[in-house]
Amino acid sequence: MIDVMVIGAGSAGLVTAKQLAASGKSVALVENDTIGGTCVSYGCVPKKLWHRVSALGGQMDAANDYGWSVSESSFDWEAMQQAIRGYVQKLNARHYQKCMDAGVTVIRGQASFVSPTTICINDTHYTAGHIVVCVGSTAKKEPIPGVDYCDTSYDFFSWSKQPKSVAIWGGGYIAVELASILQACGSRVHIICRQSQVLGGFDADLRAFIMDRYREKGIHIHTNSTIDRVDRIDEDTHRVVMGSQSIRVNRVIQAIGRRPNTDALLCESAGIMRDANGAIIVNDQYATSQPTVSALGDCIGGLQLTPVAIAQARDWFHRVWCKGNFPVDFSMVPTAVFSHPEIGTVGLTEDAAREQYADVSTKTLTFTPLTAVLSAQPEPVFIKVIMSGSDLRVRGLHIVADSASEIIQSLAVAIQKGITKADLDKTMALHPSIMEELVTIY
Ligand SMILES: Cc1cc2nc3c(=O)[nH]c(=O)nc-3n(C[C@H](O)[C@H](O)[C@H](O)COP(=O)(O)OP(=O)(O)OC[C@H]3O[C@@H](n4cnc5c(N)ncnc54)[C@H](O)[C@@H]3O)c2cc1C
Repeated sequence: MIDVMVIGAGSAGLVTAKQLAASGKSVALVENDTIGGTCVSYGCVPKKLWHRVSALGGQMDAANDYGWSVSESSFDWEAMQQAIRGYVQKLNARHYQKCMDAGVTVIRGQASFVSPTTICINDTHYTAGHIVVCVGSTAKKEPIPGVDYCDTSYDFFSWSKQPKSVAIWGGGYIAVELASILQACGSRVHIICRQSQVLGGFDADLRAFIMDRYREKGIHIHTNSTIDRVDRIDEDTHRVVMGSQSIRVNRVIQAIGRRPNTDALLCESAGIMRDANGAIIVNDQYATSQPTVSALGDCIGGLQLTPVAIAQARDWFHRVWCKGNFPVDFSMVPTAVFSHPEIGTVGLTEDAAREQYADVSTKTLTFTPLTAVLSAQPEPVFIKVIMSGSDLRVRGLHIVADSASEIIQSLAVAIQKGITKADLDKTMALHPSIMEELVTIY
């Protein structure tokens, strides 16, 4: 009998399988797609490469304002798509090899539960002492008329041709990231968003600022709108109907949220409870309603991010198998939105801080950084600090700037340690830089 069976070779499953194998357990890892999961194959990795590819277009335009003469440029979408897919395939192979080196048995196929200790893969039953479900999540699709003409973020990463125009339904981070990539590569982009602002859950001032920036760059944002229907005009043209309004585009993407990949698991056969969105219900030790089954990562709901899935896998292994502690602070998760411009954020929004603390103060700065002053279209910076209490402890930091993700990752350490405004004041400024403004706020 196998000691532990791990279902899903993504961010959570790979870490889980390798650390169990390193501790001497016999481990089988089941995967019905690529080794690496969403992050490597259809998420963070190809998305970040596309972010870089698309940023270069704007940088070439800006170079003309700085004495360079950048002649007419052209862009080969298909070549980039192939290059990125090629890199992803190398990563898939590398992850597979690491499993082999660690002594993990990889089984290809779709797993479903037969009982709390037995799963079925390709008509064969496997029994294990413990089963860990790490099946991730997948893009939801609203079943509107014409749903079959709609793609998701998953399909985007295999488009061989750049569409001239795209409608993206959704206002979350995946929607605005894809919108920015496409717009910067030269497509005409519409965002259709149910709310009055994009990026629900982010700080309200940041949301207002970033909407202006997206619109300034030419993205059409239709707020308080929803798609009723998508009609096919010909293979390459679709009509998107939103109430009394309609637009013609080449492609339509639904980016309206994600659903845990748990339907095919047949959880009911094993008495494993799920919530209304299909997320597996777990306790604070990641145990499901069956003591022999644990679940980690996107499939348990909550914050759906790669570092969170990996940290949960480490947390579970240390606490459940080693009876130790894995000291990570799940309440302070830095996140980025890789749009143009880039967003970095950590800690509470102003609204969330006001719900938790009586004495909240904020400082918001918007300015043109020195490096952008000669540009015909200077990209402004946004910095907002949320503080509370008489010691002005920093509760949240929200930035829109070049490399905002890198800035926030570094500052997350200090903010997690509980720095105050006095600590910012005490820190010497580095001049000239964007972030010197943070330590010279008066
Ligand atoms: C477009 C996009 C961009 C993203 N960008 C970022 C980002 O910038 N930063 C960030 O932190 N996160 C990002 N994410 C989120 C991140 O990818 C996920 O949070 C992370 O991959 C979750 O890891 P996981 O192990 O829970 O699931 P996954 O990585 O999805 O792995 C689950 C695996 O299980 C397999 N599987 C499912 N069902 C079965 C079954 N029945 N039998 C066998 N195998 C099965 C799947 O094929 C998959 O390989 C992005 C996601 C998307 C879609």
